[in-house]
Amino acid sequence: MSERFETLAVHAGEPRPARDRSVVFPIYQGTVYEIEPGGGVDYIRYSNTPTQNYLQDKLAALEGAEAAVVTSSGMAAISTALASVLAAGDRIIVAGNIYGGTHALLAEEARRIGWGVDIVDADDPAAWAAALTPETKALYVESITNPLVRVGDLAGLARFSREHGLTSVIDNTFPTPMLFQPHSIGYDLVCHSATKGLNGHSDLVAGVVTGSAERIERVRHHLMLTGGVLDPHTAFLLSRGLKTLAIRVKAQGENALALARFLEGHEAIAEVHYPGLESHPDHTRAAELFRGFGSMLAFRPAGGLEAAERLLKSLEIPYAAASLGGVESLVTRPAISSHAKMTAEERAAAGIGDDLIRFSTGIEAADDLIADFTQALAGEEAPMDR
Ligand code: PLP
Repeated sequence: MSERFETLAVHAGEPRPARDRSVVFPIYQGTVYEIEPGGGVDYIRYSNTPTQNYLQDKLAALEGAEAAVVTSSGMAAISTALASVLAAGDRIIVAGNIYGGTHALLAEEARRIGWGVDIVDADDPAAWAAALTPETKALYVESITNPLVRVGDLAGLARFSREHGLTSVIDNTFPTPMLFQPHSIGYDLVCHSATKGLNGHSDLVAGVVTGSAERIERVRHHLMLTGGVLDPHTAFLLSRGLKTLAIRVKAQGENALALARFLEGHEAIAEVHYPGLESHPDHTRAAELFRGFGSMLAFRPAGGLEAAERLLKSLEIPYAAASLGGVESLVTRPAISSHAKMTAEERAAAGIGDDLIRFSTGIEAADDLIADFTQALAGEEAPMDR
């Protein structure tokens, strides 16, 4: 089997010869299987039934990992991965901004569970070292942050974790393994919301954790006890989505770059955040680490909040909706969606103004997206300071 990602996305995990000569792996809906002599129990909540195994093998191959376990959501993947590493009294270093749900888990629930959390700058090794205590057991980071699409010092953080015996955990939802495989630079556990780009069709909820066979066995053990497993029908749909991952992510990235360049050159736009732009502070790092720059961009209209609201109403192609990574473009203001739970002060400190717009680029024709923005921005004022 080729190791090329595009081929793996279609063929990895597929039994050859095909089962019952079916080109498509079937849905094994059964919850329980006959015990073979000397064998163990195959039971749906243990995540070891045929359709679950098939999907897990495919995902492990795509992340370049020994093993994978699928979960009922991205949050189930993250919370179970962390529970497999941290006991009450342990501490975790969180580097950079993270998704609001994970932030709530670590900022609020963690205290009740007994985990200590130290939030540090993802670009400040002195701060990582200052946060270390004898109780620190893990480090958590996202490969691309939301919504400003920053890329922290991911290689440095993985090295730091290794040097200090920490388990490094990374959320790789934004780039997907098509663009970045964190295990290749030393991350121990990789988590995804498969609800987003891995599935790519905005029609299911799922998650995955990948890592060494030993680490994933521990995650699977916790999952078996806490119960957030993936059902076979959803596993089938996710495996179908994965087969087109490579071409979807490539098309989204090309569209996002074209749109980011267009917006950067538009007089009614004050700033554009996209790691594929030379003007992005992490452009060089992203170019070194990633195979492309992804589907997510953010920007601020020159006319402030009112212009942002006008724009959201005038755009005809994208849906005004949260979430990301689907074949359809989505547009939202993080201040009222993904980051609504933060206070205005917290948002301002994170650089997320009320007028910031996030765009999840779909696979529509780039020229159509640009034409849609052209009509939606027509008549908007040019900023005074440009
Ligand atoms: N990680 C990231 C980066 C996300 O954006 C999200 C959801 O938006 C999650 C994790 C949680 O995923 P799910 O909604 O599948 O639980």
